[in-house]
Amino acid sequence: MPTLRAWPRVGTVLRQGPHVALHRSFVERFGRAPERVGHAPGRVNVIGEHTDHNGGLCLPFALPQRTRAAVARRDDATVRVHSAQTGETVAWPLRDAAHCAGWAAYVVGTIAALDPRHGFDVLVDSEVPVGAGLSSSAALTCAVALAVAPTRPPGELLAATMRAENEFVGAPTGGLDQTIALHARAGAALLLDFGASPADRLVRQVPSAVPGHEWWVLDSHVSHELADGGYARRRAECAAAAAALAVDNLSRATLDDVARLTDPVLAARARHVVTENARVRQVVTALEDADASAVGAALTASHLSLRDDFEVSCGELDELVAILLEQGARGARMIGGGFGGSALTLLPEATVEVALSAVLGGFRRRGWRLPTPLAAGIGAGGAGVDPV
Ligand code: ADP
Ligand code: MG
Repeated sequence: MPTLRAWPRVGTVLRQGPHVALHRSFVERFGRAPERVGHAPGRVNVIGEHTDHNGGLCLPFALPQRTRAAVARRDDATVRVHSAQTGETVAWPLRDAAHCAGWAAYVVGTIAALDPRHGFDVLVDSEVPVGAGLSSSAALTCAVALAVAPTRPPGELLAATMRAENEFVGAPTGGLDQTIALHARAGAALLLDFGASPADRLVRQVPSAVPGHEWWVLDSHVSHELADGGYARRRAECAAAAAALAVDNLSRATLDDVARLTDPVLAARARHVVTENARVRQVVTALEDADASAVGAALTASHLSLRDDFEVSCGELDELVAILLEQGARGARMIGGGFGGSALTLLPEATVEVALSAVLGGFRRRGWRLPTPLAAGIGAGGAGVDPV
């Protein structure tokens, strides 16, 4: 059984000097030194789930875990990229970026969206768990964008990294992940309003630390890729509910409006969005008041809404939340699109070891794959670029 000591706490990975190793392996692989290293964090969304595609509010903060991309410009218009996570190297001509597939499409797509005339050698390494709902994909595109175009304004980097996912990869993401990766501030969650245009989306910073408590993420290892159709169906149901109510999006609806929906499924989906926006506001106030109980209560209410009204949870996530609450968590909820991925919890410092051990014990007894706990820190800084 892994001991708590083996689980990464805030900053332990960063202190190991990752740039040194990245520099060395870039030289070994490409036979020359990198020019720059771009880096960007993964993120966790405290609350506001499935609100981004409904013109609503959410409240992410950046994780201490980062993705780094070391780059050096090439004389031709080819991208050659190696990922330490996949162990693969892909070389792809930028003029054919549209046909690049798989993980390399995130990198080739980002560079093609920024400047399709200049190729790069790129070496990627990451601490962000991949496919766990912690936004490894935006950490990757934003790290690459900063590395290849360090002087471009943030709005252009945001547009390019969104194009990489939406057009080149074909993933219908709404921009939440890229916005927090690029704009995160240490010690803060960002209140984002997806009812506003991308340039005005950032409402304000909210303190993300809760004194005497720790934020933890537990990766269930249940794959959400299996249920990609489920995500698209929920988006379509939300659009249908908004159309039935004749509103631009569900964040413009009230609970009275929701009560008018005759289709019980559409009513449940709409109720989640309306109540989730209200919970985001509650959590903003609670964080500003350092009111751990109120933060936790809203988190748990969000989970129940995602389970019962939005129907995107699964047995493993429900069990994770149940065990954490039994063990003294202030609150817990599934995070991300659903059908797997991770859970977020706010734990009083004194209960961390016992609660995480209880989760592992509970899953072991059921014969389920053990979740991986990850210390989420208190809000890391955003993407940046370092000379090497
Ligand atoms: P999430 O962003 O929540 O981790 P996604 O499905 O959006 O999940 O993105 C995961 C995908 O991003 C991976 O399947 C892979 O294609 C790509 N990816 C992310 N990080 C890396 C990395 N370090 N190396 C290679 N590919 C990566
Ligand atoms: Mg992603």
